[in-house]
Amino acid sequence: MATILGCIADDFTGATDLAGLLARAGVHVTLRLGLPEAPPQDTAPFEVIALKCRTAPVSDAVAECRAALDWLRAAGANRFFWKYCSTFDSTADGNIGPVAEALMDDLGADQTIYCPAFPENGRSIFMGNLFVGQQPLAESPMKDHPLTPMRDSNLMRLLEPQVTRPVGLADRLTVAGGKAALGDRLAALKADGVAHVVVDAVANDDLGTIAAACRDMVLMTGGSAVAMPLPALYRQDGLLGADAPALQTPNLPAGAVVLSGSCSAMTNDQVAAYRLHGPALQLNPLDLAETGPAAALDWLAAQPLDSAPMIYATAPPDDVRAVQDTLGGARAGALVEAALAALALAAFDAGRRRFVVAGGETSGAVAQALGLSRLDIGTEIAPGVPWTFATVKGEDVAVALKSGNFGDQDFFATALARLEA
Ligand code: ADP
Repeated sequence: MATILGCIADDFTGATDLAGLLARAGVHVTLRLGLPEAPPQDTAPFEVIALKCRTAPVSDAVAECRAALDWLRAAGANRFFWKYCSTFDSTADGNIGPVAEALMDDLGADQTIYCPAFPENGRSIFMGNLFVGQQPLAESPMKDHPLTPMRDSNLMRLLEPQVTRPVGLADRLTVAGGKAALGDRLAALKADGVAHVVVDAVANDDLGTIAAACRDMVLMTGGSAVAMPLPALYRQDGLLGADAPALQTPNLPAGAVVLSGSCSAMTNDQVAAYRLHGPALQLNPLDLAETGPAAALDWLAAQPLDSAPMIYATAPPDDVRAVQDTLGGARAGALVEAALAALALAAFDAGRRRFVVAGGETSGAVAQALGLSRLDIGTEIAPGVPWTFATVKGEDVAVALKSGNFGDQDFFATALARLEA
């Protein structure tokens, strides 16, 4: 079916988050990992392209996003969403503003909004200032981010140096006045030539008002939360039929594998909890450096095919530090990622079709090994982590990709059980 909303996200986990929130409305959402090589085919009403351009040079980010826009337009979309982080992660030069302005130019749009608010996750905007929990952005831990330190909390001041056209504000008092009041404010700003409008939102209801007022804008920009009401609004508007096909979940054989390369505190708890459930094997990067993954591959091959074994490199911080002191952080990471990628492929070749993967980088390595480029979004396992479905060498598979601290202690077992529901 032709695409209604085409979304471009500046990183992979942000794209998954957006795709999961849109899919909550029971609509078919497809996530593309990187710019698709082939022209659009078999597209979903909601398409999300995950790029990796948050900190790329401005000209590269702009070129990639424009290519993604072209693809989404070819898929039939005539509304677009530019998704960035809810902490407005950007440098003095970009890439949030330059990409938005380039997309506006290509689309002939003379105004867009900026709303990274995500009240459920403690991101709110008041008088154009972004708060993380109770702290202004520039006083939050984001002030020390290694790549995008945020040293100002005022979104207008952050945006101005990134764009060429005027920046303005639609504040909370206007948003609280409802959809019509916000629409009037946007029209007045447009008449004054204001192309870039930061919109305040401190509560979920504000996002509903903003989405309702802006749903016909050709380009909206923001965090994932302001996009969440769009599917329901499109249904109301008749753009999306009540009978629009939901995702057909494939029937999959029982065999699963849990692969964990994240060393976050939550993943350590999740691994400990899942060890009580089924067969588990710990990878030691020092052994991998000596003998590679052969022993782990043998162990996996010996597990019954209808079981759900876990293989993990997950370790507490002291162990990770000790390994890194010996091997170097990059080498240790690369060894673990390569081993888990090889295990994923071996699991697939043996007939396992259900994959639970923990770790952002680890997920990238596994996705690459399996050759994943298109994921259809299924049920949500935990906030921000949906089951996804894909085809590998012509076979249906289910893949749950979880980064860092997502999910609760029972995430792995919950994920596998959710697939049965
Ligand atoms: P997260 O989403 O929690 O950041 P990632 O997969 O992105 O997880 O990053 C974890 C990194 O740590 C990966 O590069 C992984 O290969 C590496 N790693 C995993 N286990 C170990 C370990 N025991 N020692 C050293 N590095 C490890």
